[in-house]
Amino acid sequence: MIRLLIIGPPGSGKGTQAEQLARHFGIPAVSTGEIFRSNVSEETELGNQAASYLDGGDFVPDHLTNALVRDRLVDSDLQEGFLLDGYPRTAPQVQELDTMLASQGFALDAVIELHAPDAVLEQRMRRRAADQGRSDDTVDVFRRRLDLYHRETHEVVSVYAGRGILVSVDGSGEPGDITGAAITAVEKFLRGRLSGH
Ligand code: ADP
Repeated sequence: MIRLLIIGPPGSGKGTQAEQLARHFGIPAVSTGEIFRSNVSEETELGNQAASYLDGGDFVPDHLTNALVRDRLVDSDLQEGFLLDGYPRTAPQVQELDTMLASQGFALDAVIELHAPDAVLEQRMRRRAADQGRSDDTVDVFRRRLDLYHRETHEVVSVYAGRGILVSVDGSGEPGDITGAAITAVEKFLRGRLSGH
């Protein structure tokens, strides 16, 4: 049973790594970005409320995002563990998540931070824009998302570092190598915790 969170700037490969890590640890990955995107394409009420924020590269307001996660975390498939991808990414969301988990008697085991230089991130975004055509993969919107990451999400990383559960992984290489490095780092961290180091 393991509860993980993955944090990384746009273009860091967070979604790809989340899927691989979830498979390795045998837990479901929950991506707030993906849930929002599928709601937008299905034109649900949530999707209609979130669409303009996604397209502009802004955060969806906390009340919508928190409600979405609160509903999802009580689903039966997450009771034996999960990997959260893309949430929390603001300090108030960290507090919300703390409250949600505490009410279930849960806590996070480790937080994986994927980092890569901005130039690498932008280059990947350009490639993804050509391949996938995500509406928020334009240079301007990407820069806005990156700027928001540096301004807001950095604080989230600091909070978890302060709690001693942050595992930093270099996300600038090839996807398979990064997955291997992340698995090694998380397992080493968990072993260290078990043995009290
Ligand atoms: P990226 O990491 O490239 O920004 P995501 O798929 O994680 O991609 O998120 C895409 C978009 O979904 C974000 O730009 C934002 O609009 C919205 N979103 C996802 N997670 C959150 C969150 N925790 N809080 C607010 N908005 C979010």
